[in-house]
Formats: sequence, structure tokens, C-alpha cells
Amino acid sequence: MRTATNSKGSLTVISGFSGAGKGTIMKALLKKYSCYQLSVSVTTRKPRPGEVDGKDYFFLTQEEFQRKVDNDELLEHAGYVDHCYGTPRAFVDRKIAEGKDVLLEIEVQGAAIVKKKRPDTILLFVTPPSAQVLRERLTGRGTESPEVVKERLEQAAREVKQIGDYDALIVNDDLDRAVETVHQTIQMLKNTPARQREFIGSLKQQLDDLNRELENS
Ligand code: 5GP
Repeated sequence: MRTATNSKGSLTVISGFSGAGKGTIMKALLKKYSCYQLSVSVTTRKPRPGEVDGKDYFFLTQEEFQRKVDNDELLEHAGYVDHCYGTPRAFVDRKIAEGKDVLLEIEVQGAAIVKKKRPDTILLFVTPPSAQVLRERLTGRGTESPEVVKERLEQAAREVKQIGDYDALIVNDDLDRAVETVHQTIQMLKNTPARQREFIGSLKQQLDDLNRELENS
């Protein structure tokens, strides 16, 4: 669904607890709708098995990451557990200019920085229906040790305090429904008048011109 309002795309941040299923929602959303573009972050953490450099992340050394920070190449960056993560600014800006609705899958500190720098940003938070389901999903992956599961649940308890700063909560109890809700929410929120000031200004100008023309005819 493309709107007839702004030719520029929008910027959406999607955060959520580890295990909430935000990665799965993103994949399904990108497959279903061509208007979206996922931003690939830079990170200092090592690739997990199966992760591809340039697709899942750009994997950098600490020095390379710091150079990007010093050169102001990142829209935001934050530390999460033991590693640094950041969003390359140029790619995001280029895709928005091309009309794409850009998605950043980032944690809550980064989300707050993006919102402060770009107040039009749409903030979505993905959560499972309950803490018990979150625990079951984290345990069910079979890849995390009990210590890591504990750490992730503690992290979730810290992140839950930030949900009030978000525009919408996406409860992921059914994948198809969650994907559709994310899509509808972004398309609705990008057309709030506060996010369409440029379009409204141009509409006003067109109406003024048209009325002047009619008066003079
Ligand atoms: P993971 O190491 O599991 O891939 O990601 C850990 C956390 O970092 C997740 O919450 C993920 O959303 C977040 N993250 C990924 N990329 C970025 C980024 O560019 N900036 C920030 N602030 N967080 C990110």
C-alpha cells in the first residue's frame, strides 16, 4: 500500500525483548510488502553460525566501529550486553529519499536516540503475550544456556519500563496477525498530520494558488 501523500518514505524503529519474535516478524513483513527496507547495523560482536557479513550485520572491529562514531557516520549507537551496535546514517537517508519505509530493529537506548534526533520516527515495541511465553520461547530455542535465559529475562524486566515511550505495542501471539498489525500501524502512523507537515504545506499552497486563479478568471 503506497500513500499519495509524501513521496519520501518513513522511519520506524522496532524494539522488543529478545525472544519476542521481532526478527521473524521483520522477515515476513519484508517478504510480503515491497515498500519496506531493513537497515543493516554495524556491530562489534562476532557472527553467529549462519550469519552473513553485510546481510545480518556489518561485523566490525572495535577500532573500525570507533572510527564510524568519530566520523559521525552513525545515526545512533549503543552498547548491549558486551558489544556495540549502530545504525549507518547514509543508507537510511538514501532509502527514505527513495521512498522506502525504513525499519530499524534496535534496542531501547538506540530507539530513544533516534526519536530525539528525528521526532517523526515511529516507535513499535514487540512483546509476547506473557512473561511465561517469553521464557518458554527463550528456553525452547535450545541454543541458550539457563544463564543466558536468565540474563535475557532480566534485560526484559529493564526494557519493559521503556514501553511507555513507544507509539504502539505489537503483541506477537500469532505471526500473520502480528505482521499485518505492524504493516497497518506503520501505514496509519506515517500519515498523522504531524508527520505530513510538508505534504500539508504543499496542499495549502496549491489551494491558495487555485483560489487566486479562480478569483482572477
Ligand atoms: P543481537 O546480538 O541478538 O543480534 O542483538 C542484540 C540487540 O541489539 C537486539 O535487541 C537488537 O535489536 C539490538 N541492535 C541490533 N542492531 C542495533 C543497532 O544498530 N543499534 C542499536 N541501538 N541496537 C541494535
